[in-house]
Amino acid sequence: MSTATTTDRAELLREASLTVCGRREGKTRACNSCLRKADAAVQLIKGPTLNTRLLPRVADIVCGSAGQPCGDCWEKATTLILELRG
Ligand SMILES: [Zn+2]
Ligand SMILES: [Zn+2]
Repeated sequence: MSTATTTDRAELLREASLTVCGRREGKTRACNSCLRKADAAVQLIKGPTLNTRLLPRVADIVCGSAGQPCGDCWEKATTLILELRG
């Protein structure tokens, strides 16, 4: 059903964006910047890229770095990949 798929995707994106933005009690939505990053990360993770190549690329998107993501963002990227592919 297309409606269910849309809802699933929206829910997926919401969860992913919270992971990117940083989860906190009572926080229900991410900021716009993290929402955009999560959207790009979800597309990448759901795409054909090999698992082994995924982590550095997702970490880079999350951090917004030019190939030098920080430790925090490596962890977030790992979480995202596990959530979406695991
Ligand atoms: Zn944010
Ligand atoms: Zn970072």
